[in-house]
Amino acid sequence: MAKMYYDHDVQLDVLQDKTVAVIGYGSQGHAHAQNLRDNGINVVIGLRQGKSWRKAEEDGFQVYPVSKATQQADIVMLLLPDEKQPQVYEQEIKPYLRAGQALAFAHGFNVHFNQVVPPDNVDVFLAAPKGPGHLVRRVFQEGGGVPGLIAVYQDVTGQAKEIALAYSKGIGCTRAAVIETTFKEETETDLFGEQAVLCGGTTALIKAGFETLTEAGYQPEVAYFECLHELKLIVDLLYESGLEGMRYSISDTAQWGDLTAGPRIINEQTKQEMKKLLEEIQSGEFAKGWVLENQANRPMFNALTRKDNEHPIEQVGRRLREKMPFIKGKNSVAKDVVTS
Ligand code: NDP
Ligand code: MG
Ligand code: MG
Repeated sequence: MAKMYYDHDVQLDVLQDKTVAVIGYGSQGHAHAQNLRDNGINVVIGLRQGKSWRKAEEDGFQVYPVSKATQQADIVMLLLPDEKQPQVYEQEIKPYLRAGQALAFAHGFNVHFNQVVPPDNVDVFLAAPKGPGHLVRRVFQEGGGVPGLIAVYQDVTGQAKEIALAYSKGIGCTRAAVIETTFKEETETDLFGEQAVLCGGTTALIKAGFETLTEAGYQPEVAYFECLHELKLIVDLLYESGLEGMRYSISDTAQWGDLTAGPRIINEQTKQEMKKLLEEIQSGEFAKGWVLENQANRPMFNALTRKDNEHPIEQVGRRLREKMPFIKGKNSVAKDVVTS
């Protein structure tokens, strides 16, 4: 059984006299900073001059260059894009770290794959919400929380786990569930999940369904609603009550199709491919490719992104969503840039 922690298992006290420097004010950064502040914790933001700096100031935070924020903090939470972290860490964080501080991450990638090598006199922990940053904030404001993982990589103060748990409570994760893990497990499962199921598997499934229908002569608008828009409604049911609850809501005809056709689409061959993806993640092959892609200025990343942005499902989708302004409600993620 996984070790689980909930609100009543965790105290915030250990953070009471401490300052948290949230480095970065993007998807995760703004959510961590605002949730911690709402819980009475002292937060400063570390950034470079630019869009986020202005936004964080507008939201009422004290903003400093990364090195200054690091110097002021007891806990330094690194929430820059993963591929930018190694350089910023080397130049603007590492030279300013003090013994006994804590260095924290929301994803284990850089530590696990040795892109950031922390000194041995600081605590190093992970507090990783299992959800996009905009939902970390929105769900918190609604009184809930996004589940989270914690892991301790290095404990010099003897308090690293307590701090990681308190931090997770501070951002709302213990309201849902916090699971204790390792940097290795968090990194590998997170990469696998986004590649095989959450992002890669899902976008490929949506596109294949849309293409199959439109190539057979069906109207793209119908195919869009069927294969993309309606997915949210199904996923909401899955989120609320699992496979059984979703199947309770759909028609018996849909359920019969679900049970018999699903395994033909995601079949043994798909699972073999999933196993290969997992091996490439475990061996470091995926990480190496991504690090090199960034060093080469992202030729494939940009080309593949551009190609998908021009996909017919995107063209028809943009038109249809414009007519549904209610989708972009007050708290909508769609108003902001979301990364995963
Ligand atoms: P974002 O891409 O949203 O972070 C962008 C922020 O970093 C902006 O505030 C940007 O400022 C700032 N930034 C970029 N480069 C620099 C720099 N050189 N110096 C100072 N600030 C800089 O990151 P995410 O929130 O997506 O990811 C942060 C971490 O959280 C990652 O480790 C990620 O794996 C993890 N994570 C992310 C999830 C998500 O929902 N996105 C989910 C779970 C974990 P500016 O405006 O100046 O460019
Ligand atoms: Mg991820
Ligand atoms: Mg239907």
